[in-house]
Amino acid sequence: MIKNINIRTKSRNEFVDITSELQTLIDEAGIKGGICLVYVPHTTAGVTINEGADPSVVKDIQNTLSKLVPREGHYLHSEGNSDAHVKATLAGSSQSIIIDGGKLLLGTWQSVFFCEFDGPRHRRVTVKIVSD
Ligand code: ZN
Repeated sequence: MIKNINIRTKSRNEFVDITSELQTLIDEAGIKGGICLVYVPHTTAGVTINEGADPSVVKDIQNTLSKLVPREGHYLHSEGNSDAHVKATLAGSSQSIIIDGGKLLLGTWQSVFFCEFDGPRHRRVTVKIVSD
């Protein structure tokens, strides 16, 4: 089964914790074991797993990405959002998470983040839940 999570981002760079939305989809599917594939069908956004307990971690990641990939640079792409495309590739467009006992098998401090690099926009995260 394929499900979508719709997201409306509010700023150009923004990480949105979608862990609880993913868990809700798994609960609704009634699946106890399997794989949750999270896919972002956009070229200037991505998905990553990192610490959700301390919001400073996400800020540090965003700040570091912006230092590594500045908004202005010698880019060829004429849309003016090349930094967002590069950041999206660094983050990656999918994550696979094991489902065990009806729960996402994440570490204690881990959360799943949708990564916006060219907002604000309406975005979609596509989720495929595969049962054992
Ligand atoms: Zn572009």
